[in-house]
Amino acid sequence: MRHLATVRKIDEVLPIEGADAIVLVKIDGWQCVALKNEFKVNDNCVYFEIDSFVPLCPQVEHLRSKAFKRMGDKEGIRIKTIKLRGQLSQGLALPLSAFPDAMTAFHKTRLYDPDERHFDVSEILGVEKYELPVPTQLAGQVKGNFPTFVPKTDQERCQNMGKDIFVANADAFYEVTMKLDGTSFTAYHTLDKDGVCGRNWDLDIEGNETNSLVRMYLDSGLDAVLRELGRDIAVQGELIGPGIQKNREQLTATKLFVFDMYDIAKGAYLTPAERHAVMAELWDMGLDKEMVDHVPVIAHSANLFDTLGITNVDQLLKFAEGPSIKHAIREGLVFKRLDGQFSFKAISTQFLLKCED
Ligand code: AMP
Ligand code: MN
Repeated sequence: MRHLATVRKIDEVLPIEGADAIVLVKIDGWQCVALKNEFKVNDNCVYFEIDSFVPLCPQVEHLRSKAFKRMGDKEGIRIKTIKLRGQLSQGLALPLSAFPDAMTAFHKTRLYDPDERHFDVSEILGVEKYELPVPTQLAGQVKGNFPTFVPKTDQERCQNMGKDIFVANADAFYEVTMKLDGTSFTAYHTLDKDGVCGRNWDLDIEGNETNSLVRMYLDSGLDAVLRELGRDIAVQGELIGPGIQKNREQLTATKLFVFDMYDIAKGAYLTPAERHAVMAELWDMGLDKEMVDHVPVIAHSANLFDTLGITNVDQLLKFAEGPSIKHAIREGLVFKRLDGQFSFKAISTQFLLKCED
């Protein structure tokens, strides 16, 4: 679960040139615009991360004209990346005192632990991730929840990783891959079950052959080669193509780009080298290479942050900017440490400002 609404501390309050009523506040790796005189450094706030869907309430009523959205039968405010007075603003910071229930929970739980910055109040405040309506093509039949023996494909944002992450990891081995903007795909095989999943659901296969995830699983031969491989394994990737998101890569047919493999028996991700080896094996067994490829690898090296001279989030986000396969502005990059214990995404700011729905 993403911690969308959290109690955090204000790290910096900066004036904005030419603006009387607003200031820029910095919170961990994030910055957003706030009302002047609302915060001073070290104040507690509730920080709503971008992608939050905040139920309508008096505290966010002032955002209604700009950011009102419906999600199913719920009404709320969608928090997204914007520029205000030339300043990048990501997320929403409001005083903790404006939310008595959140404040009570926070003080009861964390009052004496000043290092606990990310006390999650999403549930208390009814904050959910804003999801675009599911395209009809993907509204398949569901067999059950996402299997518990495979990790979901979610990635944490680099802004939440802590200030020293790049310094501490300067000499670590990382694989950097292109973040593609489609829909999450997981296929798994174990001794007693096989399946194909979207981001959150294990899908019905029988009777659900028009679902694009199921179709990929069957038509590419992935179901067959995974059975033939005979390992307890999950293959995870991004499905892109016509009718999925904006098809930014302008494909004429659906294609799966594999970014992870997970050893279900061991409970660990395969290393990139192992993943590439299994990919080659699967292609040899007849997996359709036109339909299933490996996601583009941007870098793969030891001392990654040291070599690139990246010591903070801003530099990392700069590095994340660039083209995708067919588009001048890619969504971003995903960074994975080789030990498989640690990964995060860096979303291109250009993408958020210019290309996000
Ligand atoms: P988001 O799309 O912002 O929710 O970020 C997480 C998602 O990125 C994952 O669930 C994947 O579906 C997707 N994704 C796209 N490209 C990659 C990649 N190269 N590595 C890992 N995840 C990726
Ligand atoms: Mn995505």
